[in-house]
Amino acid sequence: VKRKLVVGNWKMHGSHAANAELLQGVLSAQPFGCDVAVCVPFPYLSEVAVTLAKGPLAWGAQDVSAHEQGAYTGEVSAAMLAEFGCRYVLVGHSERRAYHGETDQIVADKAKAALARGLTPVVCVGETLAQREAGETASVVKRQLSAVVHALTHCIGEIVVAYEPVWAIGTGRTASPEQAQEVHALLRAQLAAATPQAAQMRLLYGGSVKPDNAAILFGQPDIDGGLIGGAALKAADFVAIARAA
Ligand code: 13P
Repeated sequence: VKRKLVVGNWKMHGSHAANAELLQGVLSAQPFGCDVAVCVPFPYLSEVAVTLAKGPLAWGAQDVSAHEQGAYTGEVSAAMLAEFGCRYVLVGHSERRAYHGETDQIVADKAKAALARGLTPVVCVGETLAQREAGETASVVKRQLSAVVHALTHCIGEIVVAYEPVWAIGTGRTASPEQAQEVHALLRAQLAAATPQAAQMRLLYGGSVKPDNAAILFGQPDIDGGLIGGAALKAADFVAIARAA
């Protein structure tokens, strides 16, 4: 039976001291009934790998290069992340798409590069408020996912998908469980057309997940966990969300 997955996305937050306190708080609450991971800023991967070694928490990065190696100043390869023990890497987060010009094709290439090195890409999709209001939600997420489906073909069952409506990220405005489930069902159907593994794949919801709304979101039939931003920075909140999964 499929275990739920709760992933903390620290974004550009943290320090040696803050990370140690946060992780101790989370570790002291184990065991969890779901898989739990944290995606941390690159400079902290090595210390997080040491802190979390042998424990139940997995770790990952928030971005990866689409390239194997070479003259790509500032980029970090999937092979490097694998050396640091990363299990996961976020790919195509809306902040990367919006501020760093990541296209659907770049996102697909990054997912492919991650899988080639044994990392699980957490591929993020989601519509903006304007797109939702224009009735384009289904077509936007379908287009975003389909680039990845085409790039990965038979490996598509190996990824995690995160639906993160842009208007719900960091706004305190969560998608209703019905709104989220509706999109998750579409994504599941799209995956089912591509792989027999679709039912076993984990589809996460992200966007203002908090301790008080996590259980109802994670209780939806096609929501298999969450991608948590702000609430992942407070051990008590992150633990409460993991317990709701
Ligand atoms: P918030 O939980 O802060 O809304 O962030 C969601 C997110 O972007 C996780 O990747």
